[in-house]
Amino acid sequence: MTYTSKVLLIYTGGTIGMNRNPRTGALEPFDFEHLIGSVPELQQVSTEISTFQFNPPIDSSDMTPELWIDLVHIIANNFNNYDGFVILHGTDTMAYTASALSYMLENLTKPVILTGSQLPIGQVRTDGKENVITSIEIASAKHHDGTAMVPEVCIYFNGHLMRGNRTTKQSADNFNAFESFNYDHLADAGVTITYHEDRILKPDFSKPMTPHFQLDSSVIVFTVFPGIQEELIHHVITSKNLRSIVMRTYGSGNAPQYPWLRRTLKEATSQGKIIVNISQCMAGMVEMGRYDTGYQLKEAGVLSGYDSTVESAVTKLMFLQGQYKDWHLVKNYMTRSIRGEISV
Ligand code: ASP
Repeated sequence: MTYTSKVLLIYTGGTIGMNRNPRTGALEPFDFEHLIGSVPELQQVSTEISTFQFNPPIDSSDMTPELWIDLVHIIANNFNNYDGFVILHGTDTMAYTASALSYMLENLTKPVILTGSQLPIGQVRTDGKENVITSIEIASAKHHDGTAMVPEVCIYFNGHLMRGNRTTKQSADNFNAFESFNYDHLADAGVTITYHEDRILKPDFSKPMTPHFQLDSSVIVFTVFPGIQEELIHHVITSKNLRSIVMRTYGSGNAPQYPWLRRTLKEATSQGKIIVNISQCMAGMVEMGRYDTGYQLKEAGVLSGYDSTVESAVTKLMFLQGQYKDWHLVKNYMTRSIRGEISV
């Protein structure tokens, strides 16, 4: 077989490679040879596939910022030798990993496609085979001039290619586990793969990709709800080592009008903490000027997270905090789109 491209397949773990433990009945990560052996179709693709596996493979609930840094090292060290990268990953934290990598790989000129499955690849009705085979095809796809068709960090699942930092896990059971509610799919796979080129980012192909290896995870996510208590929230939001807060509000960015909440938020922002307002709704945009309840958050120094996902806001803060000690810079970049993650 003459190969037309080379892809590095990185196996981190997840359901796709799991096996049932005969004693407990629970699914556990299994080795990569078993996984690859379950997809003999891979021998028919015209892409040369090399593999790298996490040792041991993990359930993605155990994913950490340190492992994201490891992934960036693996990609950076192999960047010039491959046309693209496919990361096999558990679905539970896949949207966090995709978002984090999108920030850590600046001016990305090659595809990094994350995929996994809802059923292990060894099971008869598995969705894993199609997800892996199509991800490899997408990671190998190029324009006539040799540049990558999709030079982005993406999630491919159930026929859809989505920008990684726009994607959320929407179902624990269905094969369409992921959706990108606020940005249209980058490609759709049916009989053929249709790329929507106008939606795909264009890096500067004349410049190198710049990997970043610093993250600072002093961030929390706080969800407002009726009955939220002052003492608890005040304790968390004003805690000393916290640098930023992702605040999940109602609808278009609204929160209860308790005077103590406004005071607490104001206290935190005047300490130099960054508070980003993200809607609890899956689709739509934060507009803090639309209702008075949202306007008051703006007055307290809360930033709009626009149409960001929670996964994207959390990892963007970790990335920016890793790069900058000065909160003005973090604040400034939070309100701009740096990897196509928000519509501003
Ligand atoms: N718990 C698994 C994981 O995220 C679920 C999956 O892979 O779908 O690793």
